[in-house]
Amino acid sequence: MSSASKPVESETPAQPDVPNKSTIPTWQGEIKPRLLTNQEVSRRIFIGWSRTVPHSILMEAFARFGRYSYIDNNKGNGNHCYLVFESPDSVQAMIHCAHKRKGGLYFDFFYDGKLEHIQVIPWYCQDLYYSNPKVQSVDRSKTAFNTVFIGAIHALLTASAIAEIFEETFGTVAYADLRCDGNSYPIGCGSVTFADTESCRKAVAMGSVDVVTSKFGRRITIDPFVRACPCSVPNCSQLGKVFCKDCFNYFCLGCFQPHPLYHVGVDVLSFRKR
Ligand SMILES: [Zn+2]
Ligand SMILES: [Zn+2]
Repeated sequence: MSSASKPVESETPAQPDVPNKSTIPTWQGEIKPRLLTNQEVSRRIFIGWSRTVPHSILMEAFARFGRYSYIDNNKGNGNHCYLVFESPDSVQAMIHCAHKRKGGLYFDFFYDGKLEHIQVIPWYCQDLYYSNPKVQSVDRSKTAFNTVFIGAIHALLTASAIAEIFEETFGTVAYADLRCDGNSYPIGCGSVTFADTESCRKAVAMGSVDVVTSKFGRRITIDPFVRACPCSVPNCSQLGKVFCKDCFNYFCLGCFQPHPLYHVGVDVLSFRKR
């Protein structure tokens, strides 16, 4: 059975089809390194190294900049972790003392008889947001519905880099923003608002975009940005529980049932929990 003729269950909305790998667009390019001076930084900073270094060694290396805790999602087995300093001034001091090479920041020191290069990547708070100056004259309330929710964002991608990728792949981007933790550090998801509905539909239809750079490869997921909306069928007063990825309308379960079978719905309630 082809996905085009997939029947819609009476109670459960159809799940979005997994796009065929060959249809997923690829963006290939380089992310320009960010080295800004006197810009607000997150208290959280990325630390990466080429082989496993005990945390005690890292403590020694970075304690001179101030008090910090660390976040290690790999439980000591990976090649990176995050330091969260008590003061952003500590991060500024680190940036100031680091060696600048190939557009990156490094600390060199001897460990176990070998020279170790530790890369540090600060996060500039301004990189959480992007606003296209050419689209600013457009009423924001009109573009709000051209928004997609994006996930699996690599830590090196700023909001303006995301905007560049989505603009070159799908169409003009009005705004992009990245969700962050309490330290203004990105948590890997966010949203992109297009200047027009057509570009937004294109992005939702593709469902993801592959980003390929010399430093990393990543598939960014794209979902419709659903919100609380009433059912779009005239004279129906129910709450929209299904968002149709084809016609971009909200439906209650009753009204979605007779909807053309080739349309693909997204369960609004499960999306809102994110
Ligand atoms: Zn539809
Ligand atoms: Zn309805």
